[in-house]
Amino acid sequence: MHNKNIKEIKQDLINKKYSVKELIQHFIDRIEKYDSKLNAMITFCKQEAIDQSKLITNIDTSTELHGIPLIHKDVICTKNVKTSCGSKMLDNFISPYNATIVDKMQNSGMIMLGKSNMDEFAMGSSTENSFYGVTANPWNLECVSGGSSGGSAALVAARLIPATTGTDTGGSIRQPAGFCGISGIKPTYGRVSRFGLIAYASSLDQAGPMAKSVEDLAYLLNSMAGYDPKDSTSINISVPNYLENLDKKLKGKKLGLPVKLLSDLDSSINQKIQQFIDELKKLGATIVEIDLPNAHLSVPTYYIVAPSECSSNLARFDGIRYGYRHPDPKNITEQYIKSRGYGFGDEVKRRIMLGTYTLSAGYYDAYYLKAQKIRRIIREDYQKAFENVDAVILPTTPTTAFKIGEKIDDPLSMYLSDIYTVGINLAGLPALSLPVGFINELPIGAQIIGKHFAEDTILNIGHQYQLVTDWHKKIPEEFN
Ligand code: GLN
Repeated sequence: MHNKNIKEIKQDLINKKYSVKELIQHFIDRIEKYDSKLNAMITFCKQEAIDQSKLITNIDTSTELHGIPLIHKDVICTKNVKTSCGSKMLDNFISPYNATIVDKMQNSGMIMLGKSNMDEFAMGSSTENSFYGVTANPWNLECVSGGSSGGSAALVAARLIPATTGTDTGGSIRQPAGFCGISGIKPTYGRVSRFGLIAYASSLDQAGPMAKSVEDLAYLLNSMAGYDPKDSTSINISVPNYLENLDKKLKGKKLGLPVKLLSDLDSSINQKIQQFIDELKKLGATIVEIDLPNAHLSVPTYYIVAPSECSSNLARFDGIRYGYRHPDPKNITEQYIKSRGYGFGDEVKRRIMLGTYTLSAGYYDAYYLKAQKIRRIIREDYQKAFENVDAVILPTTPTTAFKIGEKIDDPLSMYLSDIYTVGINLAGLPALSLPVGFINELPIGAQIIGKHFAEDTILNIGHQYQLVTDWHKKIPEEFN
């Protein structure tokens, strides 16, 4: 069961090959057997899922996801279920309401099995910043699973669940998807509701699905996408059926390749990207050289914008309005200092300090305002490129998954693992990461980036590639 895609599971349920109850039990058994190796879960909603599955006796064929199990990233609010955000600060937080996407997926008939591990407040690229410990990579347990949605990626890669959600502020869906050999899409900013997502950087955050294949992503995005009056940044335009475009041939599609940007890419990764491109060419696409002249400014710009927004968003976690409260402060000042001092981990504190600095009087113009201006230029570069091409191709990461502990004391080198992803968030564009090969038995991903709201185009390209390749079908041996 665990190797089947959503369409196949759905068909089996309709044909009564197994019941929803058996399906759920199968994944519960896998999680119980294997998660101790990965540490990909924060909360396991075993009994709730069993109870829910017992209620489903007839499969509703009108909702494609009826009975399909999923796990949400722990930054996403789930009613009556702990939503920790990977932080001691929210270790005792039981959300009183559901995020809009949780409601939507539930309304599609999906059954939630729990919440996945993540970097604290979604800040990180390795899940090492989680209060609950690191999530190992199913392909090599000594390596990181990526971050911040590392738990969600590892769960899908090890086939412990067919679908998860992630959030992506600077790469947090795509980078772990790349490191774990699965598919993940960050939709256009405004395509999916942010209501009920615990905010990291509000102008960049976007939720999206993670799954084994691009086709599965299309099923899941159909459920997640759409305008939400509860999120003032969600956009009120119609959502296509993402399944409809998948079968289109790629003949005539123009794909942009920012050749200069790839000049210092590691040669083994470059080779995989070239093979990916060759395959797309065989499918009928043409490759056009493009220039993204300011792309090298993406990482510094992101690491001003995101911490600035985080310093403001995280001000509410003070032990009084929200979050961990230190038990024995001497006075009110110490109450704040100790609650925040003990409640947050090191990386979160680093970013709050950085962001407070870049927003403070005297430095605002030099840092925050300047970063906003560069953000606009980065976005304009993409807009110009998209005048000539349908999508842009980039690697997802500059390396394969690194060893646990390798970068934790060197934040700069950690930040550089986002070099190919953060610019896309700054520009608000949709991007897909999908597996395109292996280097030393570790998966490597490529990105397909689309125009604003052109998720259907990038899903089409990704799906056509997966019809002729089988990287997305590979399973780490230990979890077979
Ligand atoms: N790794 C990036 C960061 O630490 C991106 C995180 C994210 O997308 N949530 O900010």
